[in-house]
Amino acid sequence: MPFTPYHFGPNGFVGLLFRRWFDVPVFIAANVLVDIEVIADHFLQPGWPVHQIWHFHTLLVGGFAGAIFGAIVYYIKPFRWLSEKSMALIGLPAKTTLLSMVLAGVLGVWLHVLIDSFYHYDIQIFWPHKDNTIFRWINSGKMSNMEKTQQWVVFYCKLFWGLMLGLYGVLLALRAYPNNRDVMRQSEKSEAKAAGTKSPQA
Ligand SMILES: [Zn+2]
Repeated sequence: MPFTPYHFGPNGFVGLLFRRWFDVPVFIAANVLVDIEVIADHFLQPGWPVHQIWHFHTLLVGGFAGAIFGAIVYYIKPFRWLSEKSMALIGLPAKTTLLSMVLAGVLGVWLHVLIDSFYHYDIQIFWPHKDNTIFRWINSGKMSNMEKTQQWVVFYCKLFWGLMLGLYGVLLALRAYPNNRDVMRQSEKSEAKAAGTKSPQA
């Protein structure tokens, strides 16, 4: 659970990059949905493994939970309104659809599970297949490499936080640019008009 905010970096960056197709707030909130499993585990069966109680940290069940989550946010109007409002508030207004929310739910969970699978041996990403193939691949089959991998994951998540903020700045600038261009076109037109009225055509 303490790692959930780290996930906001990669999910925020990818979400912003593909914001035409994914609902960004759902894409980011999917991280919280998945990690509810870890909190639940803490109360229901304390101790490791902490990522297996509901199979949320799997592509299969996690993807399904993400799809339902996206549909719930879409059909419960205050949630949909909140999502659209939050995008408008940060200066990137977006009209949401059922598909964009369901897609964001599924892919948001998948990205989270993929990142977690790098450094948590107990993630069964391809459940019902029980082995964490990705963990073994990334850590060269050695548990002793896990801590180092975790440090790398934290580093890259922080990097993606920075990239997300950078991309956000670029998107805001791009949104401002067409407006400036329109203004310039308008002033060019009115200048041409003024010039046309002053000096009749030869
Ligand atoms: Zn997780």
